[in-house]
Amino acid sequence: MRAAVLHTVGEPLVVQDVAISQPGPHEVLVQVKASGICHSDLHVCEHDTGHYPAPLLPGHEVAGVIVALGDAVAGLSVGDHIVACEVAHCGHCIDCISGRPFMCPNVHETERAEGATPRVSIGNTEVTAFAHIGGFAEYALMHENSVVVIPDEMPFDRAAILGCGVITGAGAAINAASIRVGDTVAVIGCGGVGLSVIQGAILAGARRVIAIDVHDNKLELARTMGATDVINSAEVDPVERVRELTSGLGVLYSFEVAGLKRTALQALEMIRPSGTAFLIGIQAPDTVLEINPLVDLLFSKRNLRTVYMGNSNFKHDIPLLAEMYLQGRLNLDDMVSDRIALDDVQQGLENLRIGSAARTVITTF
Ligand SMILES: [Zn+2]
Ligand SMILES: [Zn+2]
Repeated sequence: MRAAVLHTVGEPLVVQDVAISQPGPHEVLVQVKASGICHSDLHVCEHDTGHYPAPLLPGHEVAGVIVALGDAVAGLSVGDHIVACEVAHCGHCIDCISGRPFMCPNVHETERAEGATPRVSIGNTEVTAFAHIGGFAEYALMHENSVVVIPDEMPFDRAAILGCGVITGAGAAINAASIRVGDTVAVIGCGGVGLSVIQGAILAGARRVIAIDVHDNKLELARTMGATDVINSAEVDPVERVRELTSGLGVLYSFEVAGLKRTALQALEMIRPSGTAFLIGIQAPDTVLEINPLVDLLFSKRNLRTVYMGNSNFKHDIPLLAEMYLQGRLNLDDMVSDRIALDDVQQGLENLRIGSAARTVITTF
């Protein structure tokens, strides 16, 4: 099959032929119909994280159709439309059975045993599938616990982004912050994840949702997704402006999605006493925040948290969000800004790097 492979960190991906294995007992083979390009794909292409040895096949926002499956797979059929999620999980540990698969410590159980034929390879060399998915390719071979069935009516390009960007953002608002009717919210960074935080906050009943970005076109998009106020932080101090908009108090919840040191500190500064700042954005590996715990947290009664994958139980949350889309309550149509071919994947990554696109999705393979 054709796949976009990273051979050297920092170098462009190479679109080339690779070999893909047949499904093992608990695996599904999926024909990829749509593959979103996410910041963590860009992150592993630009930084050596130590977890994903090259050659690496990035891509983890996948929607497609099951074309073959292993004989021990239960509850899935050939022809099912699925979305993949990077929260591969064992399904039987205390975290999995208590509805927190994103905490599962047994992810290795979803991998092939050492020494077994690799799922994807070039000659005798294994190709690492990013997030156990490897979505920048015509097919993806995954463990059954990496996929969830979606309604056939869901368009693939919009379904794909549910798998990471949308559940990360909407889940942060709904699952992690547990926003209630009347709460005040600010979101720094209005790409795919930020727009999903905004929509999750609106679904949960927030009274004020303040969108912050440096691109006016993204702020316009944020308004169409329900943001009640927008701030261009290239023009005004976002912390001061958030205070002005909230009677001098600050918001109850802020969400940092831009992945920058400066905006992470702003997220903490713009919350009110008892408020919580959530750090979601992928920071550079060498970023260190200087926070005085006594002054910035304890005495000012402010909280700082991170959220991984929106604290989502994805087998529950992705079908829920798909239903919200089909009912017209979740806007995914305006979140897919560009549809490209696999051959143009490098341009898609570049769009993300310069911050110009809400979400670029590969739809031609
Ligand atoms: Zn588990
Ligand atoms: Zn992602």
